[in-house]
Amino acid sequence: MLVKMIYNGVTDLLFPRRCPICEEPVMPKGKLICPECIRAIHFIREPACKICGREIGDAEEELCSNCKRHRFSFEYGYSLMSYSDVVSRSITRIKYTGAKEYLDFYGHMAIRLYGDRIKAMGVDAIVPVPVHKSRLKKRGYNQAAVLAEIMGRELHIPVYEDALYRNKKTAALKELNAAERLKNLSSAFFAGEIPKDMRSVLLVDDIFTTGATLEATSRCLKRAGVERIYCFTLASKTDI
Ligand SMILES: [Zn+2]
Ligand SMILES: [Zn+2]
Repeated sequence: MLVKMIYNGVTDLLFPRRCPICEEPVMPKGKLICPECIRAIHFIREPACKICGREIGDAEEELCSNCKRHRFSFEYGYSLMSYSDVVSRSITRIKYTGAKEYLDFYGHMAIRLYGDRIKAMGVDAIVPVPVHKSRLKKRGYNQAAVLAEIMGRELHIPVYEDALYRNKKTAALKELNAAERLKNLSSAFFAGEIPKDMRSVLLVDDIFTTGATLEATSRCLKRAGVERIYCFTLASKTDI
């Protein structure tokens, strides 16, 4: 016990947990984010789009403008936060500078705010949106898979990382519009091993922009026999 306490104390000193927003060691110790920094995050509130989960300004509306224009192959999804500079910086650090530990905070919030609603979906599995294997090698982890693992562990839902693969890198999606993105992505994914009894799936990804990635992966899972697909993303761009 004492040895463990000393060990934890030393690890804390050498590798203090850093805040996903300001990147400084989190105070008070034991927390996942600074009390001030959590206020910089805009967690999605109602009214939110019934399909993609992004926040919409008008309580009279059921869908965001994007979901009015496009029909998705997934049933519906939730998103934790509205995309902002602060959130974008934090996710970029997770993706490109090894700040995997920030996902502990986001995973914790995902469960706290959406755990019951995700359980109510009654899915057979959680499937992370894959990254290309060369990217995985460079980063050492897939941020969506790390998040999926945290959620699966807490919600007692199995995670199938091998359900989907990405067979080409899809760079510069930012410059493309929704239709071009989807075209670009439609051949980017293929299904791996899908157990026969996997009828419904929660797809997990980091950012919801136009929904093209989730649409491409949903189509891929449907072709492989999955009947119902739901989504969860960390951040979504507000009405686009
Ligand atoms: Zn902070
Ligand atoms: Zn929507």
